[in-house]
Amino acid sequence: MFLDWTHKYSSQGEILDYLRSVAKKYDVLKSIRFNSEVRTMTWNDKESHWEVEVSYNNSPELQRFTADILISGAGALRIPNVPSQFDRFKGEKFHTARWNYDSSLKGKRVAVVGSGASAIQVIPAIAPEVSELLVYQRTPSWIVPRDNHPYSSLFKAVMAYVPFSQKIYRAAIFVVKELTFLTFQRNTWLYDKAGQLSKWVADNHRNKSVTDPVLRERLTPKYQMGCKRILTSDDFYPAMMRDNVTLITDKIVDVESDGIVTQNGKEKVDVVVMATGFDVTAFMAPAQIHGPVKQFKPDPSNLKSYLGITMNGFPNLFMLLGPNTGLGHNSVIFMIECQMDYIIQAIRTMMDKDISKLEVKPESEESFSKTLQATLKNTVFSTQCGSWYADAKGDNIYALWGGNCVSYWNATRKFELEPFNVTYHNK
Ligand SMILES: Cc1cc2nc3c(=O)[nH]c(=O)nc-3n(C[C@H](O)[C@H](O)[C@H](O)COP(=O)(O)OP(=O)(O)OC[C@H]3O[C@@H](n4cnc5c(N)ncnc54)[C@H](O)[C@@H]3O)c2cc1C
Repeated sequence: MFLDWTHKYSSQGEILDYLRSVAKKYDVLKSIRFNSEVRTMTWNDKESHWEVEVSYNNSPELQRFTADILISGAGALRIPNVPSQFDRFKGEKFHTARWNYDSSLKGKRVAVVGSGASAIQVIPAIAPEVSELLVYQRTPSWIVPRDNHPYSSLFKAVMAYVPFSQKIYRAAIFVVKELTFLTFQRNTWLYDKAGQLSKWVADNHRNKSVTDPVLRERLTPKYQMGCKRILTSDDFYPAMMRDNVTLITDKIVDVESDGIVTQNGKEKVDVVVMATGFDVTAFMAPAQIHGPVKQFKPDPSNLKSYLGITMNGFPNLFMLLGPNTGLGHNSVIFMIECQMDYIIQAIRTMMDKDISKLEVKPESEESFSKTLQATLKNTVFSTQCGSWYADAKGDNIYALWGGNCVSYWNATRKFELEPFNVTYHNK
């Protein structure tokens, strides 16, 4: 266990140190091939294995290997979504996930495009150093307090020396987060009460932090709380109140070589920071996956899977954070752990029973997806707010799980062969 966390929300450097320490402790570094990008995965039905092509150090010459089983941990929020109109801007520009650490924003006129999860972290961090900051907001977010306090020496000592204290503290965080799912399940008495409480917390936070009534109104969301991701921040509203920060809510109609044009005119800027989110439909792209009869091409309006872990048409392929396994209320690491436990059971079963090919049946996938979509219809995620959780029409929610974490644990805790078509080695 890592006992040196400095804050409730510790920074990137501390999290990286923790991940490194875990990798070292469990001696996994020797199994990792660094700087290696999987480019294609092709199923060989005769041999019942995947043929994988990998580029090492971005080399065009691909290395090849085979694998009986593939597990994709390619990540869900990974490929920056960059609107093409920003190609026309000739000044300095970068996406939040491709931060240019060589660039100094000191004294510059900077535009941040977006006001979502990434923007609310970037804006308070850069506002004190830039000369002027223009924030382009399409939709205001629901924001609740973060309370990112440093851990006291006493707290750290308790965590270090009192048995089970870390586990109890972690469990308490989990339970509180799980309870927030109540605010997402519509048409229940608890939803009304829990929803009112969450809304009161967010409204109170905004009312206290934003003293200018006009700015406050422009920062007030009009959609149902939870339909888009609820954000946590203590420093975003104070940053928006700064004299050198301007909120622009007019629609961006064009981007020119030196600035951004809205319905109400053009603003020249030195730097554009695109806090424009990620392409969540990419899944494993740009890597290509060729199954026995079809290529993997996710269609958000009709994306189906079984438990978000396997897909018909792609035997012996398991996904971590596949479709419908993101969360709006708790840590996705829990979901990844459930998935890994399920996959380990599946692989053990394949080894024990000498299975060469395991592919989810189309009817299992269909029935799972239908039930899940019906459940999701009763959540706030389907209240049509234009979120990235759903397809363009808002009909098919493909990014999120429809229940709390415990329900996903329950759905994945036991691997059964019944939903799968199976081929055995000896046949
Ligand atoms: C701004 C932001 C905020 C977030 N906040 C939260 C949060 O508050 N709570 C939460 O639970 N989650 C949050 N997430 C989600 C976060 O993605 C997960 O918590 C976690 O990092 C997912 O782990 P992962 O291993 O699945 O994916 P990642 O951490 O994205 O790792 C994927 C890895 O796969 C590699 N990869 C991809 N394709 C290939 C390929 N073809 N060949 C070889 N390697 C490949 C990538 O290089 C990367 O190393 C946030 C994400 C972002 C971007």
